[in-house]
Amino acid sequence: MPAIRNALIWDAGRDRAEYGDIVVKDGFISSVTAPKEAKEPILYDCKGKCLVLPGLVNAHTHVSMTLLRGLGEELPLMEWLQKKIFPVEDRLTAQNIRSGADLAIMEMLAAGVTCFADMYYFMDEVAMSVLESGIRAALCRGLVGDDPVKLAENLALAETYNGREGRITVQLGPHATYTVQPSALEQIAATARDKNLGIHFHWLETKSELDLLRNEYKTEPADYLEKTGLLGVKELILAHCVWHPAEQLPAVARDNVTFVHNPKSNMKLGSGYAPVREFMSSGVRVALGTDGAASNNRLDLWDEMRFAALIHKGYNLDPTIAGARDILKMATVNGSYGAGFKDAGYIRAGQRADMVIVDMDNPRYVGCDPGNVPEFVVYAGSSRDVRATVVDGKVLYRDGEFATLDSEKILAAASRDRRILAG
Ligand SMILES: [Zn+2]
Repeated sequence: MPAIRNALIWDAGRDRAEYGDIVVKDGFISSVTAPKEAKEPILYDCKGKCLVLPGLVNAHTHVSMTLLRGLGEELPLMEWLQKKIFPVEDRLTAQNIRSGADLAIMEMLAAGVTCFADMYYFMDEVAMSVLESGIRAALCRGLVGDDPVKLAENLALAETYNGREGRITVQLGPHATYTVQPSALEQIAATARDKNLGIHFHWLETKSELDLLRNEYKTEPADYLEKTGLLGVKELILAHCVWHPAEQLPAVARDNVTFVHNPKSNMKLGSGYAPVREFMSSGVRVALGTDGAASNNRLDLWDEMRFAALIHKGYNLDPTIAGARDILKMATVNGSYGAGFKDAGYIRAGQRADMVIVDMDNPRYVGCDPGNVPEFVVYAGSSRDVRATVVDGKVLYRDGEFATLDSEKILAAASRDRRILAG
């Protein structure tokens, strides 16, 4: 039973951070004691100079798109997808998916990310990368059109990996309203309910999707989610939600629904400002994601937190919107819960031991005290300050070194694959 010793501890359940020791047993936190009290062997000695937060969760991404980073910059979503992204995706092999996933997990672990929710294909490769690296993930096979083969692949993924080592959940992955017809969506939702699986779906990323619902399907967003059966699935991860109308929010403020805010991708693709203030005042759970590396172009939740906390204040001319505490809650427990890991996201006994250890002994943290941790993390903090990343009580990253990843090999494989793909 090792312990993280003498850390300044914050999670979304605390008004103020507190100094303490965190004792870990069998992948879970077994107790949080007063500082320097734990007698257990030391997993990490913070010496009162490190902050410990729950692990950050990237609640919507496409990890293997790290190989597509920088392809087709500064184009509108549809043109970008059709001219630049889809043609390369048509050529991706299982090996490419694996090397892109390994690369992304390396980037995320070094930035304190302990869990991610992913939609793509050849997802067995991503699952293997998750299992070998030690990170946690919610995975789905992206479903386009009405394709029984892809649905069968998604179900096989669930059969093989759902619940594996307590580190993987599997959802069904209908891609978006503009790629999956309502009848196919109904079928997928019925299958998800039947198999007790969640759904991960791109939702109202651009205005054209709202227009499609209103003009073609003659329906409003919440009614569409209800009618197709999506609202009734185990966990519904809705990525983007930029154009979800405010008056349609109360109907989706449910325990099984999570909106994933991807502010940098939305800004980069010119999709719009998600009404985050309205999401929060309606009681909708909001998590944070980066989306794929081709539209961000980082997989860095620190960057996403800071961006989310700033843009809504400027856009609404109101500095009280998207406060640091709410943003840090989005990036931690809201993401874990939304991804189907309901026992992760807080630092207390009984929770999964997923944590990020942050160096406070640097210029950015002078003035940080137990009363202002979220504000320092969100406005001043940076992924550069991450000292260690812990998943299930195992230190997967520490001071530039990866316990489970061969970083040189991963960089070489990804560089080779990228050269072939872009060539
Ligand atoms: Zn996406």
